[in-house]
Amino acid sequence: MNREVLFSREEIDRRVRELADEISRDYAGGELIVVGILKGAFIFMADLIRALNVPCKVDFTQLASYGSGTVSSGDVVISKDIGLSIADRDVLIVEDIVDTGLTLSFLVETLKKRGPRSLKVCVFLDKKARRKVPFTADYTGFDIDDGFVVGYGLDFDEQGRSLPDVCIMKE
Ligand code: 5GP
Repeated sequence: MNREVLFSREEIDRRVRELADEISRDYAGGELIVVGILKGAFIFMADLIRALNVPCKVDFTQLASYGSGTVSSGDVVISKDIGLSIADRDVLIVEDIVDTGLTLSFLVETLKKRGPRSLKVCVFLDKKARRKVPFTADYTGFDIDDGFVVGYGLDFDEQGRSLPDVCIMKE
């Protein structure tokens, strides 16, 4: 399959800094626990936290959704849990992309039960038109239309995560 650049590394860099400034203002004087969702969010999260002006602790979770190929089904489970306690802490979930909303709505509900002081979500990309369940991120890098994207951490069958630009796959 071919691909075309959708967001260049320069555009991404600019937008990530804007997001980090907004988050830093919102949590000024506090401390964050940033929870990245593996694997796709690792590059976005690395750039985001280095641009933050608030101290943060970092953890990761991994979720598995049953379904095949590029379509996720409704059944989401935690395959790797976080190790930090989030009770009474300000928590920011960082995700690469929200599509149907199933993954993030499941994770938000799961982590809420652990009693964080606050729980917000920052997504790099948002395909708003594809929701199967209502979900609104607190911070969004870019809204995109339908289509399959790779690069900047996002993969196609485990390929393409290291591309510095976000590319859209073309037939
Ligand atoms: P949701 O549960 O919101 O449908 O799914 C979110 C997950 O689907 C993302 O974490 C990602 O793994 C995958 N996903 C959805 N759209 C894309 C896409 O365009 N490219 C890639 N690489 N993954 C996607």
